[in-house]
This record gives sequence, structure tokens and C-alpha cells, in this order.
Amino acid sequence: MVIVAAVLFAFAALALTLCIRTSDLPKPEPVSPTQHLDERKAQIYENLRDLQFEYRLGKLSDADYQKTKQSLQQELARVMAEIDAIRPPVPVRALHQKAAAMPAANPASDSRQCPHCGARFDRALKFCGECGKPMQKGARA
Ligand SMILES: [Zn+2]
Repeated sequence: MVIVAAVLFAFAALALTLCIRTSDLPKPEPVSPTQHLDERKAQIYENLRDLQFEYRLGKLSDADYQKTKQSLQQELARVMAEIDAIRPPVPVRALHQKAAAMPAANPASDSRQCPHCGARFDRALKFCGECGKPMQKGARA
């Protein structure tokens, strides 16, 4: 009787786990919305390579080669168009603006040259060794 109860309990637990697994857990999201298209694209490229290889070996006639190549290229164009429709192209201008906004090396902030007398030193100093004024422009003495 104890064994039967244990077995039933085990089955119940298993059934519960399976139920939760199938109903409560969300379906795994694809890594990228274009992943299947990217895979398809890679597959077409591979087919094109294989086709060229076989053509060079003389296994295909010119007509067969051209026909298959064209159909593969048409399919490739379709896949590329679908990818473009899903994934908007990266705006190039935004990238340039971002690069321009990056802080450039500012010679005025070089604390190795005195902004007052122009004396240069081989290391950063708080006060000029020549005129004794603060090395950082705008810094108060
Ligand atoms: Zn100085």
C-alpha cells in the first residue's frame, strides 16, 4: 500500500512537472528575429559554392549551372529583402555623430605645459616650476 502510494505520488509529481513545462513556461524566443533568415542565407551561399564547385568539375552543363545559379540568387535576394524588412539598417550618420561627440584630446588640459608662461615639464604638475602659477587653466591659486 505504501509503495502504491509512493508510485502514485511520483506519477502525480511527474505529471505536474510536465504540465508546468508545457503550459506555464514561455516558448523559447529565437535569438534574433532574423535568425532563420540568416541561416537560410548561409545555406544559399553554401549551395552556390557547391554549385560552382560542381560546375568547375564539369558535372553540370552551362545551362544547368546558369539556371540553378539564377534561382539561388533570386532566392537569396528574397531572403535579403526579408532581412532588410525586419532589421532596419544601422544609421551611418548616427555612428558618425557618436564618433564626433567623443571627447578629443584637449591640449589645453595638458597639465604638463604651463598655460601662463608656456614652460613644459616632463610630468604633470599642480603649479608651474617656472612662474609658480597653477598649471590647470581655470584653477584658482
Ligand atoms: Zn609658468
